[in-house]
Formats: sequence, structure tokens, C-alpha cells
Amino acid sequence: MGAARADIACVSPSLHSLRGNRALMAYTAAAMYGGAAFDGAIEGLIPGDPSFAIAPVIAAGVVVTLLVAFGPRLPRWALAPLGPIGVLLIASALAATPGAGDGAILYVWPVLWSVFFFGGRGAVAILACVGAAHAATLLLLPEASSYPGRWVDVMVSVCVVAAVILRLANRNDELLAKLADEARTDALTGLLNRRGFDERAALELARARRELTSIAIVAFDIDYFKRVNDEWGHEIGDRVLVRVSEVLASQSREIDLVARFGGEEFVVLLPEADTEIAYKFAERVRALVAHDPEPLPPVRASAGVTAGVAPASIEALVHGADTALYSAKRSGRDRTVCADVPHRLTTEPSLLA
Ligand code: GH3
Ligand code: MG
Ligand code: MG
Repeated sequence: MGAARADIACVSPSLHSLRGNRALMAYTAAAMYGGAAFDGAIEGLIPGDPSFAIAPVIAAGVVVTLLVAFGPRLPRWALAPLGPIGVLLIASALAATPGAGDGAILYVWPVLWSVFFFGGRGAVAILACVGAAHAATLLLLPEASSYPGRWVDVMVSVCVVAAVILRLANRNDELLAKLADEARTDALTGLLNRRGFDERAALELARARRELTSIAIVAFDIDYFKRVNDEWGHEIGDRVLVRVSEVLASQSREIDLVARFGGEEFVVLLPEADTEIAYKFAERVRALVAHDPEPLPPVRASAGVTAGVAPASIEALVHGADTALYSAKRSGRDRTVCADVPHRLTTEPSLLA
């Protein structure tokens, strides 16, 4: 079966945009560092606060300024240390607070950020950082406020947060992939739709121009399909469309792109194929579509073929195939017409038939 079917994995460029978005990484980190600086500054102003560590607050403020100014331009690897640096600042603030305060809740922020943007590896790294930093902090604190339960509380909490974020982020990725796939798939037949076809065809065009190979396009249109709907009903019409799509998929190669352009028109892109190969493909498909359709009503199809070596554009090729298809319709339907394609398709093709 050809790869034309849209269920073959097609990773969308937008799929990882959320987790790979450096501006988002930088600004969310800036928001967390800013929140921590604000929190620290407020504590300093509240009367009766046991002790106020000014150094982590200033450091967090500097990080915010740098992130806002340069963050989005930094590579991912340069942003990655923001998680561990945040952990160190929180640990140093805790170490400077002798009582058993609630400041360890802030560890959730770098954990959340690192796990969301760096996945499983980010989770392992940031949890190790929190484990080591909080243990060191507790060892530095007076015995009265330093007991193992504090470490266990924090570690259990951040591990749960990490696991939940990891699961949600992965689920998010799965849903995005599904949406991206559906946006490129024809719901009735499972073939590529116009958008999916255009995206994949652009890649094939780039390859053909690089390697100076030929691309062929075959446009199919079912003859008098309206009559099928009128006489047999829309549901049977749908089943005929599905059957045609199955024939197309079964006759195409892995590398071919098969799409439903809408209604009862299908377009197939055949990489590394010339007019002759495409013509034979079109005739094979038409014969199978017409052959033994039971229990569905018999249908015929017309086809238009065009091909070009390193073509100027896919649109021009599709237009050539459409023109040839129109010619097939005009000259009686139930046939394949080939366009006469010059070496490089830069002008309108003239029709042979
Ligand atoms: P021609 O030989 O000139 O192509 O004639 P035709 O009847 O096939 O073409 P026409 O454009 O007149 O009619 C196309 C019909 O296809 C009309 C429309 O109801 C039907 N159609 C379009 N999309 C669908 C669909 O998803 N399901 C069904 N069952 N019918 C559809
Ligand atoms: Mg038709
Ligand atoms: Mg039509």
C-alpha cells in the first residue's frame, strides 16, 4: 500500500513548537525568577520575618534582567542551567533561614520548568539537583530545624510534580501530533487532504530539483458521480469514494503521495516517475475502479497525467494534470490523457490528446 495514506507518520514542524520555543522558555523562566525575587523582597518588608537573605533576591533580579534582554536568543543548552541555578538560589535562601520555614515550596518552580521543557532527562537532572541541594541545606541548618522528614517531604512533592508534568506534557505532545495529523488527512478516505499533499509535495519538489529527477502527477475524477448519489444515495456514494481511495493506495508505491482534493477528485504525486509510468499507473487504477465493484454501483474514472524533470512548481504540474483531465472529460470521459511536458515545466503544457 502506498504511503500516500496520511496515517504514515508525518511530523509537523509545529508539533514541538511549544516545548522547543526558546522565547517561551526564557520568559517563563524570567517569570519564575521574578516571582521568587518578588517573594523574597516582600518577606524582607514584612515585620517579624525571621531572617531575610538579600543575595538570592538580587541574583534572581539579575537573572530576570538578563533573560528578558537576551533569553529568547540563547540556545536551548544555555537556557537549561536555569533550573539548577534556581534550585541553588532557593537552597541558599533556605540555608540562610534558621527556622523551619515553608520556602522549600519554591523548588516546585524549577522542577516544573525543567521537566516541561526538557522531558525525562530534565526530570532526572532537576530532581537530583533538588535532592542534593536540599540535603546540603538541611546539613547546614541548626539541628532543631534540620530533620530527615523535611527532606522526604520536599522530595516526595517534587517527584509527584515531575511525574504529573511529564505525563501531561507527553499527553499534550500526543494530542498535538493527532491534531496535526487530522489537519492533513481526509476524514472520509484517510488519504492526504490538500494541505497534507501540499506540504509533502513541497519536500518532493525540493528533492526532485536537487537530484534532477522527474515528478509525475495524475489527477483522477469519477465520471458522472452525481448520478451515483442521485440513484444510490449519498452513503453509497461515500463508500464508492472509499473504494476508489483503497484502489489508489493499493496501486501506489511507498513514496507516492495520494490525496483527495475534495469531492470525487483525487491527485497522486509519483516521485521519480515520467509520463509513461504515470500513464500506466492511471490505467491500472481506472481498470480496477471499473472492475467488479460489487456490491457497489459500477463507476468509471477519467485521468489527466503530467510529468516534469525538476519542475518549476507543483502547482504548475497539478494544473497541467487538471488541464489534461479536463481534456479527458471533454473527449468522452473514461480515459487517460497525458499532457505534453517540456523538460522544465515553466510554461503551460500543451495537450497531446
Ligand atoms: P463529471 O463526469 O463531469 O465529473 O460529472 P460528475 O457528476 O462526477 O461531477 P459533478 O461535479 O457534477 O458532481 C460531483 C458530485 O460529487 C456532486 C456531489 O454531490 C458529489 N460529492 C462531492 N463530495 C462528496 C462526498 O464527500 N460524498 C458523496 N457521496 N458525494 C460527494
Ligand atoms: Mg466527476
Ligand atoms: Mg469533479
